[in-house]
Amino acid sequence: MISPDKDCRLCALCEGRTNLVLPSGDLDSPVVLVGEAPGENEDQQGAPFVGRAGQILNQAMEDVGLERSRVMITNTVKCRPPNNRDPEQSEMAACRKYLDSELSGRKAIIGLGKSAIRDLMGYEGPMGPVVNTRQYIEINGERILFIPTYHPMACVYRKAAREELRRTLAMVKEEFGL
Ligand code: SF4
Repeated sequence: MISPDKDCRLCALCEGRTNLVLPSGDLDSPVVLVGEAPGENEDQQGAPFVGRAGQILNQAMEDVGLERSRVMITNTVKCRPPNNRDPEQSEMAACRKYLDSELSGRKAIIGLGKSAIRDLMGYEGPMGPVVNTRQYIEINGERILFIPTYHPMACVYRKAAREELRRTLAMVKEEFGL
């Protein structure tokens, strides 16, 4: 796995970051969860999904009996976008080589939310038709299972989204014996 240098300046997101946010969890897991971008807490602590979204993700994992330490968690970009805006296409492209190296050789990739799904699957439509479907994407010439699902923040006020996220996590727990 290749990681950006702590002084990486390949895109403009370097301007506002406090810390790079690199993957956490089991770095050898067959399953990787990919979110959009670090937020304020993640930027401060240098770890993914440690703020409000992380709490919701932790709860969903606990609900289905999946330990967070059994999967790897990362983001499409490793630096926080200003004011938590969506990362731009050019920023995701600049950071993509790091993401590809994190995803290479995995059994399944879970795309959390629209930005991750757009970056990895090239899909820009509504979430409903693709959530919890089995897609395949190519990473470094290898075909890997890709399951789109809701971002934890989309689950705050939406019970149906929360249930779909739980369903995704239960599915990978079962399929990969996590
Ligand atoms: S987002 Fe990625 S490419 Fe851009 S500065 Fe940060 S580590 Fe480098």
